[in-house]
Amino acid sequence: MLQSEGEDLKNLFMHSASVREEYCGNKVYLRGLIELSNICVKNCLYCGIRRDNKKVARYDLSDQEVLQAAQFTLESNYGSVVIQSGELQSNENTRRIEQLVREIIQLSEGKLGITLSCGEQTEDVYKRWFQAGAHRYLLRIEASNRALYQKLHPNDDLHSFEKRLECLALLRKTGYQLGTGVMIGLPFQTTEHLADDLLFMHKQDIDMCGMGPYIEHNDTPLFEFRKTLMPLNERFRLTLKMIAILRIMMKDINIAATTALQAIDSIGREKAIRIGANILMPNVTPGKHRDNYKLYENKPCTDESAEDCAGCIEGRIKLTGAEIGYNEWGDSKRFLNRKK
Ligand code: SF4
Repeated sequence: MLQSEGEDLKNLFMHSASVREEYCGNKVYLRGLIELSNICVKNCLYCGIRRDNKKVARYDLSDQEVLQAAQFTLESNYGSVVIQSGELQSNENTRRIEQLVREIIQLSEGKLGITLSCGEQTEDVYKRWFQAGAHRYLLRIEASNRALYQKLHPNDDLHSFEKRLECLALLRKTGYQLGTGVMIGLPFQTTEHLADDLLFMHKQDIDMCGMGPYIEHNDTPLFEFRKTLMPLNERFRLTLKMIAILRIMMKDINIAATTALQAIDSIGREKAIRIGANILMPNVTPGKHRDNYKLYENKPCTDESAEDCAGCIEGRIKLTGAEIGYNEWGDSKRFLNRKK
């Protein structure tokens, strides 16, 4: 199905859209995305904010800025926030995120759902954040094939494939709704790798998925392989196919229409929603910092304020024929069904 074209592709997309409608309904749920900090201890070879990229101006939002962004999310009726950050492992970082989670719950009187995406941590850290009130966690495997993973990361203990798998298992054990995802159109990646990625997510029995096209970043080691890449529009199409197939394979999970799709096609996220995605993450990071959280080039909306985004979300979703689940957490139905 990854090679579907013409009528077959149309049928694939029609089918994935109808599966979403039947198993998840017609609603798209919003998560206000707070990019807490672009400081990271890691050096992933594809990432624009990797430790060794000295061209990036590093920032760390103040706690007050985070809480203001959460307040904005609440007032915009988005229903949930995502706190995303470069990876840091320290007592100070653990304590800080724990505290921020508690304060967001307090300021919203428990109305905001909280997703974390703060990388690999110990079981104890995952537990503390969960007990503070975070209930979803996104940790992308990026490439589920060990050999490919190793080509995308430095060969050291800090970037271990096994550690990443272990963290996914710990997150599940802790009780989070578990999310992962991959990049599509990477150098050295084959169609077989992508098919295995889909099987990996199925085997992990994930609750949520965020996957997007790989977009090369100038200031990263992987950039030297840019001539081997398929054109951006093909990476985009392949991502839509991956979303559609995953929707059919895992009917009741949450699938995000990621920002990287919008970086290639201005209505890329809407196209993903049409064919099976049901989550959108409007950026609520204070506008002045957004330009510095570029994991890839051409990231959209980096020069806008959160209010600009709120204004265009509704119209964009309407275009897809879906409706917005305002003030709803929009938890993964798969997670809820598993608990029954
Ligand atoms: S992909 Fe994540 S962990 Fe890797 S360098 Fe970038 S921010 Fe850090």
